[in-house]
Amino acid sequence: MESFIYRNHNLYCEDVSLAALAAEYGTPCYVYSKAFLRSRSQAYLQAFSGHKHLVCYSVKASSNVQLLKLFGELGLGCDIVSGGELFRAKLAGIPGRKIVYSGVGKTADEISQALAYKILFFNVESESELYLINRVAAEMDLIAPVSIRVNPDVDPLTHPYISTGLKENKFGIPIECAEKIYLEGSEKLKNIKFMGVDCHIGSQLTNLSPFRDSALRLRGLIERLAMGGLHLKYVDLGGGLGIKYDCEDVPEVKQLSDIFTDVFEGLDLTIVLEPGRSMVGNSAVMLTRVQFLKHTSGKNFAIVDAGMNDMLRPSLYGAFQKIDKVDINFENSAQFSDVNYDIVGPICESGDFLAKARSLPKLEQGDLLAVRGAGAYGFSMSSTYNSRPRPVELLVDGSSVTVIRERETYEDLVKGENLGR
Ligand SMILES: *Cc1c(COP(=O)(O)O)cnc(C)c1O
Repeated sequence: MESFIYRNHNLYCEDVSLAALAAEYGTPCYVYSKAFLRSRSQAYLQAFSGHKHLVCYSVKASSNVQLLKLFGELGLGCDIVSGGELFRAKLAGIPGRKIVYSGVGKTADEISQALAYKILFFNVESESELYLINRVAAEMDLIAPVSIRVNPDVDPLTHPYISTGLKENKFGIPIECAEKIYLEGSEKLKNIKFMGVDCHIGSQLTNLSPFRDSALRLRGLIERLAMGGLHLKYVDLGGGLGIKYDCEDVPEVKQLSDIFTDVFEGLDLTIVLEPGRSMVGNSAVMLTRVQFLKHTSGKNFAIVDAGMNDMLRPSLYGAFQKIDKVDINFENSAQFSDVNYDIVGPICESGDFLAKARSLPKLEQGDLLAVRGAGAYGFSMSSTYNSRPRPVELLVDGSSVTVIRERETYEDLVKGENLGR
């Protein structure tokens, strides 16, 4: 489904004009479509409906409590990677039994908070973490539910910064070492209960074969463990499904579920998924306004009011974000003489850009632009670098608009700072 479409020359989110939102709430501004979020949740739930499953939305993709609440109401759980994300999930009313906790550097405090909230399981990424969880659980007189995140050494065929399932990555325990850790741990670690096995091999995967390869390796491990007397109940296959940013061919969720249900056929397992990008990526645009146009020898710069602090992906990964003019006047053919622009922000860094050499209709000062595919790793990666308050986040539902996070103020910027008063 598509929630951002042109009507009479103007780009809309559902039934709301983006130009009207920018006029009312200012720019930069994130706009999410509730209908889109609902339809993605349903796509996952339907695709896996033929198998025992739990879909845990990966909170780091976009962490607003209202988004988590919506997913919770639709029956989803959460995949968290920090105590802060646990706090958000609790605020959103996500029950512990629908929370899985991943991440390479969990602290004792974070572990005890998650134990107290009775999460479904920890995805453990090292042997030392397993010992720490055992110790914290012993102190609390609890049994900690645990899965081991294995590193299956499968190439996800994606950008190196978002590849996690290769030997050289910092994530998980090499799959060939996992069996020994499970079997010894079951014997020695009195406050650990092994629930399942987990992997997450990378993000923005547009090819399905790495998913199948890693699932097959997990199945092999699960069967070897069963022969050793350890029967796991869950297989967590992580997130990673790619989305269309430009003209990529991306698989459907149903194709992913077909692969997984096929690979785990005949085993009594609950399949856990941790989708992030594929849930929220195309649910939002970031609106930004052209401040100045600058023409230097061989370059056209459009300087906009959003910078790398508001949207980091292009600077961080050289990621492509599609950019559209919000108002297009089809009668004025001069608009269609395409020009190549570098769309850059106001931050004092040469790496501060949203697009390079992008062909767009002729731009003018004050034009409103929509940065597409802004829902995942957009606002959640934003910062206040250059002392820029973070943008407002809006959720559109049909013709109604909710502010789900106010634009930050200058006062917010210095919150907690010693002002010497
Ligand atoms: C980031 C992350 C995800 C979500 O990945 P997407 O590519 O956004 O679907 C899932 N699981 C873990 C452990 C992660 O770190």
